[in-house]
Amino acid sequence: MKILPQSFEILQFDDLRVIELAARNCYKSEDKIEDGSAARIVLNLVKNKHLAMIEFGSAAVRVITDRAVTHEWVRHRLFSYAQESQRYCNYSKDKFNKEITYIEQENADNQNEDYLNALRTAEKTYFALLDAGWLPQIARSVLPNATKTEIICKANFREWLHFFELRTSPAAHPQIRKIAKEIQNEFRKRLPEIFS
Ligand SMILES: Cc1cc2nc3c(=O)[nH]c(=O)nc-3n(C[C@H](O)[C@H](O)[C@H](O)COP(=O)(O)OP(=O)(O)OC[C@H]3O[C@@H](n4cnc5c(N)ncnc54)[C@H](O)[C@@H]3O)c2cc1C
Repeated sequence: MKILPQSFEILQFDDLRVIELAARNCYKSEDKIEDGSAARIVLNLVKNKHLAMIEFGSAAVRVITDRAVTHEWVRHRLFSYAQESQRYCNYSKDKFNKEITYIEQENADNQNEDYLNALRTAEKTYFALLDAGWLPQIARSVLPNATKTEIICKANFREWLHFFELRTSPAAHPQIRKIAKEIQNEFRKRLPEIFS
């Protein structure tokens, strides 16, 4: 078995121009488009809570995390998702290195022997069940929440703002909070007019 930290990769990230075009269509002020005008108008939209306009921008992120985080994430209904399937992926194949990959847990001693034994036992049982003829989609029932998964999450910027508000809050689970904060920091660098 292998244990990895959570990570993410931004696959698509719109710039401000499409939002500026949408907003200026309302006022027919396209003639005012110039260098720097997109940032100014988007700042005003956000300040005045005219957030329908920022729905014209979107981002897609590939997230490598555990199954507990994705279980929480997919409750956000305005995202589109594509997730690694435990029904179709057979972790006994070479491309998975014939092992189960798990994700490091936040706020926990990841070297705890009981924890590691539980992960090892789950892996061993999963492979034993495949050997006994079980299909991956059934054998997966013994894999724990810490099992690694990859999910591509796409949403418009308004929904990302909402997601960050809920999932970076101290009330959020530490695991989703950590990855949400990391993604939020990257969004802030790329688009401070909306995300800072
Ligand atoms: C700290 C925390 C603890 C939680 N604990 C639990 C728990 O114990 N049990 C549990 O089941 N869930 C729990 N959740 C999940 C929570 O109930 C929501 O399902 C999840 O946060 C998605 O929030 P949302 O509906 O605002 O967002 P999204 O689904 O992303 O929707 C965004 C916004 O769109 C609007 N919207 C979307 N769909 C509709 C609709 N059908 N009707 C009207 N407006 C809509 C709403 O304004 C909504 O806020 C928890 C979430 C958090 C952050």
